Amino acid sequence: PEVVDQIAAGEVVERPAHLVKELVENSIDAKATRVHVEFFDGGRIVKVIDNGKGMSPEDLPKSLERFATSKISKTDDLWKLKTFGFRGEALASIASVSKITLTSRREGDEQAHQLVSEYGKKSEIDKVGGSQGTTILMENLFENTPARLKFLKSDAAENTAIKTTLKAMALSHFDVEFRIQENGKLVNFWPACKSRKDRVEQILEIKPMYEGEAVRENVKAYAVFADPHNVAKTARNIWMFAQNRWIQDRSLQAAVNEAYRSLLMHGEYPIAAVWVEVDPDCVDVNIHPTKSQVKFQNPSLAFRAVAGALRSTLEQAPW
Ligand code: ADP
Ligand code: MG
Repeated sequence: PEVVDQIAAGEVVERPAHLVKELVENSIDAKATRVHVEFFDGGRIVKVIDNGKGMSPEDLPKSLERFATSKISKTDDLWKLKTFGFRGEALASIASVSKITLTSRREGDEQAHQLVSEYGKKSEIDKVGGSQGTTILMENLFENTPARLKFLKSDAAENTAIKTTLKAMALSHFDVEFRIQENGKLVNFWPACKSRKDRVEQILEIKPMYEGEAVRENVKAYAVFADPHNVAKTARNIWMFAQNRWIQDRSLQAAVNEAYRSLLMHGEYPIAAVWVEVDPDCVDVNIHPTKSQVKFQNPSLAFRAVAGALRSTLEQAPW
């Protein structure tokens, strides 16, 4: 494989969880309503099965080429635009450091087609059986780049990172069914839901949860959160999304804590999921495709919107 692809792979797939995110994003981009993810050995083997629109046999090899995105027209998606350098790179990057078996069938096609790629070297295309959608099996991750293999953490740690990423993706796509298997064992089955609130209750396994909204100038916040008796021991149960993308943000996390301040004891953390929507011009969505951090033009507006979304409900409720 081209060195340039392997370098890109270092950016896009530092860890198995990142490549799982890329594969599942592709399934969602392909309008899948069901996504099944199986992973083994800390994510060195990953299989993603979707029922999305599929690819034509001609598109199979193309999808593994660098910059072979079929999404170039989606200029309205600012997040994608800002990470432009990484568009059409994910599959090429993953293909350069693994063995990939790509099987896909479009609606109306009589059969599925399959392509195998070993570290970027592609096979002929075969006709095979298979239902509508795309299945990507990735194996032998990093076996051609042993240095990178050494950077992987324990299987347990990589598995946890994968499951956390999938949880975030399921939270942000409530209308998609997720089925997740770890080392052959079903660990999560989340059927599609009708609303974000239902999804949060389903995934965080607390019911009922509460919701609230607030707007501060051009920042809109929506939150789903547990009552103050349902608490966590860490801040890891505060999930944050900007433009429906999972982000990490200390300031917004602080806003959630602030809203609960008088309701929680020392060492207790809220359980909440928060969505922030802001004018595309007022947020810098990324510096790096895997880091999930944003820079709000006016962070204090975002802080106040989030705190407000929780407070409006928290202050009325009879805890
Ligand atoms: P990008 O998503 O930025 O376009 P990728 O490297 O992730 O780049 O994917 C390359 C292309 O392969 C996509 O643009 C899409 O056309 C095709 N593709 C990848 N995964 C799927 C999938 N699950 N279903 C349908 N098409 C897919
Ligand atoms: Mg992609």
